[in-house]
Amino acid sequence: MDNITGLVLLVPGLQSLINLLREHGWSVVGPTVRDDVIVHAEIDSVDQLPCGVGDLQDGGRYRLRQRGDEAMFGYVGGPQGWKSLLFPSRELLWSGRRAGTEMEVDPGVLDAPRLALLGVRSCDLHAIGVHDRVLANRSVPDAAYVARREATFVVAVTCSDPGGTCFCVSMGTGPVPDKGFDLKLTELIDQEGHRFLVQPGSECGEQILDELTTRAVRDEVLNAAKADHEAAGQVGAAAARRMGRSLDADGLRDLLYANAEHPQWEDAASRCLACTNCTLVCPTCFCTSVEDVSDLSGSETQRWRVWDSCFTQDFSYLHGGSVRSSVSSRYRQWATHKLASWVDQFGSSGCVGCGRCITWCPAAIDITAEVGAIRSGKS
Ligand code: SF4
Ligand code: SF4
Repeated sequence: MDNITGLVLLVPGLQSLINLLREHGWSVVGPTVRDDVIVHAEIDSVDQLPCGVGDLQDGGRYRLRQRGDEAMFGYVGGPQGWKSLLFPSRELLWSGRRAGTEMEVDPGVLDAPRLALLGVRSCDLHAIGVHDRVLANRSVPDAAYVARREATFVVAVTCSDPGGTCFCVSMGTGPVPDKGFDLKLTELIDQEGHRFLVQPGSECGEQILDELTTRAVRDEVLNAAKADHEAAGQVGAAAARRMGRSLDADGLRDLLYANAEHPQWEDAASRCLACTNCTLVCPTCFCTSVEDVSDLSGSETQRWRVWDSCFTQDFSYLHGGSVRSSVSSRYRQWATHKLASWVDQFGSSGCVGCGRCITWCPAAIDITAEVGAIRSGKS
């Protein structure tokens, strides 16, 4: 299809898109409600999407709510980013066994399923971009991550209803997906009806749209009109005006470096439980540890890579002790790495403003408030 500017899918057209992706061999992973939370799971039907379900998010608080409409993407990010699919929390690196006086090593096989990620928010797209830089664009790339990324098709979605802990506008990462997707959906519900503007972001996305146009049932898939693009622009602009939080990112790196001894770190630590929730839900955190496991006879062994967290005392254990034994030093390390030294290491912030660390912190500690207190000079 030449000069494609997008299509409009009615709800059955969205089902046709899911069917087409599955026919191409991708398992479609999208949002669905489970245990009163919106999670990412394999789906094959639009009926499994969280139709009419939104969420309420604040520091230490997450609740689903009925929206009173038919929106299928009218929620914000749940506790899972897409990290666990591309960079699993537990991964077998190799296994070995004793063979007489020798040891046989089995490097294992790369587990890279073909996944179509449906409903990726702009903040999470930027988080995937961060992991691409950290894990793939290094001198020795993470082979499993690279294989999974190459097997991934990304369907992004424009945020329409940001949550109480969102601050992607401050971080320049949303709410409208700008790159890193194969297709972008914008859900439109207005006097023209319930529909989705879908635009390609890659050659592969263009091919899928081209095929969809050819194969879909008439009137389920339409050519996008100027009015659809204008309506989509309004969705993004309205979302940008409704961020629940903000963070002044101006000069943040230098501000944090200059305030390594600020009393706010102790203040935060007096509330922090060092539970590690913030790092586990963060879509950019990538620290891992290695576990060796052997059977009782000692003849079989496995090496696993597992997510780790800079909030544990063991994380910074060097010979004879932990470098960061206090909670304040660990909170400072995490926040300063995200917002300051990440820039020196990887050329961008390590925070995409998704707000998960605020929502899922049991002590409701808020990175925007802690940094705001430092900037304002409060102690
Ligand atoms: S900041 Fe909150 S989520 Fe993070 S370790 Fe402390 S208590 Fe847990
Ligand atoms: S630090 Fe918090 S707001 Fe920033 S990307 Fe991580 S979880 Fe999201």
